[in-house]
Amino acid sequence: MARRPLIAGNWKMNGSLRESRKLVDALRAGVGSAAGADMLLAPPYVYIPAVKEWIAGSPILLGAQDVADKQGAGAYTGEVSGAMLAELGCGYAIVGHSERRTLYGETDSVVAAKFKAAQAAKLVPILCVGETLAERDAGATEQTVSRQLEAVLDTAGADAFARAVVAYEPVWAIGTGRTASPEQAQDVHAFLRALVAARNGTIAADLKILYGGSVKGANARALFDMDDIDGGLVGGASLVAAEFLAIFRAAA
Ligand code: PEP
Repeated sequence: MARRPLIAGNWKMNGSLRESRKLVDALRAGVGSAAGADMLLAPPYVYIPAVKEWIAGSPILLGAQDVADKQGAGAYTGEVSGAMLAELGCGYAIVGHSERRTLYGETDSVVAAKFKAAQAAKLVPILCVGETLAERDAGATEQTVSRQLEAVLDTAGADAFARAVVAYEPVWAIGTGRTASPEQAQDVHAFLRALVAARNGTIAADLKILYGGSVKGANARALFDMDDIDGGLVGGASLVAAEFLAIFRAAA
């Protein structure tokens, strides 16, 4: 299967304009021609126009960490639409990150609406799914991730996954320093791909499924060597140029 790896950096609510500039300059210098993989940056909304300028002429891709579930325009204070993000040069939007689900109460149906709103604006949604530690310990990993994925498959349809990326992010591995083993991650990735394949085998075969959860330079290669792991969604390590470049090189 020839799925081109994608390494996406989710900056979350970190940094300043000055720090972000330094980080992007270092990534630009280190990314080279990005022959074997794609690098994507998802800065905070307000830094998107600046990052767009700083990456101009480089192969680095731009995305947002979230998107409004509403399409069009209207009285939705604080929200940012997919069309606005596309207008600023974003090609991707993360939807359903576990921090959005847990801290901001986003339900499966809100996440599905965000997925659809992103695609309506021609953004590629990066749909995050993943179980909590309690769910894993209860043997409910597959039940949780299938509920999260099927909610979007049912709403948007399997064909929509020809223009989407999935990220498996076990909640217990995000920002904890605890990574899923390559085998644990591979099992879930294969399970997710099979769920899509049950609806459309061709789309499933081409679907990028990223792993996220304490990915670092030191553990990236073993994860990316797995058949169904097509790159990473990286939080903490994406804020450190040398570390993010090491992850990128492990994929490229
Ligand atoms: C994330 O924010 O999606 C993430 C995986 O964070 P970290 O790499 O810090 O675990």
